[in-house]
Amino acid sequence: DLLVVGSANADLVICVERRPGAGETVLGSDLALHPGGKGANQAVAAARLGARTALLARVGDDAHGRLLLDSQRAAGVDTAGVLVGGAPTGVALITVDPSGDNSIVVSPGANGRLTPDDIRAAPAAALLTASRVVSAQLEIPLETVTEVVRGLRPGARFVLNPSPPRELPPDVLAACDPLIVNEHEARVLLGADVGGTAVGGTPEEWAGALLALGPRSVVVTLGEDGALVADASGTARVPAVKVNAVDTTGAGDAFTAALAWRLGAGESLADSAAYAARVGAVAVTRQGAQASFPTADEVAAG
Ligand code: ADP
Repeated sequence: DLLVVGSANADLVICVERRPGAGETVLGSDLALHPGGKGANQAVAAARLGARTALLARVGDDAHGRLLLDSQRAAGVDTAGVLVGGAPTGVALITVDPSGDNSIVVSPGANGRLTPDDIRAAPAAALLTASRVVSAQLEIPLETVTEVVRGLRPGARFVLNPSPPRELPPDVLAACDPLIVNEHEARVLLGADVGGTAVGGTPEEWAGALLALGPRSVVVTLGEDGALVADASGTARVPAVKVNAVDTTGAGDAFTAALAWRLGAGESLADSAAYAARVGAVAVTRQGAQASFPTADEVAAG
């Protein structure tokens, strides 16, 4: 069973001709409201593929929280671990200009109130001891992720997408199997390691440098160029799947969810990543995040 620990946000999207400057008001499109946040997205992506999935998160006691709970339940996610209250549901205020560029303001809200105490208490503790694969991101407090690592059941597999990226404590890094990063996240993690300077080199070199930070394995996602997996036994490219991309939002979440699910089913890292690349490729051919995530049948057909 897969447990996703992470964020749940309401994404409020308005298309604008141009972004407002200080003190300025611009008119935009009708508001679009979507369930989002990396944790919520991963849980929906995994459940839609057919994985038995639970989400451990915190939302507010408000309409956005209910929207998120509804979308999880509609996808078949076990929501017993979604805590309610303490702060408003997390929100991402997103403006999109005609060239497709985003400007985003995030209010973490309830995501910032998912505490280490929440992880030690019921129902989270029971979910953690029951889960053989646990997937997390960094849109919740780092101390909470650290507590998740401490609470893993023996032999459980921990998958981390460190997004938004920041320096990680050694015990969290050591638990990652794999650490999943895109190019930006790789640069930040490695830049922090070498005194803030940007890192050059090939993805193979980044993977090697990331492995030296302590995780048991590393996956570097490379957008339309596929991905790369690395562990003590070596490094391998995961070929890109050629598609006509229309919206890459949520591709990384779909990839991570699919990878965690296949690892839990006993597949190798390379095979799991190859499957995850097919899932990510379908997701980019459709608009939206959660709305773009495929079923296993759709992956097989695509
Ligand atoms: P993130 O969304 O975190 O930046 P990526 O853009 O690397 O992550 O996408 C995650 C995965 O989704 C990639 O490794 C790849 O397998 C798949 N993917 C993303 N963009 C495309 C694309 N344009 N064509 C095919 N596959 C893609």
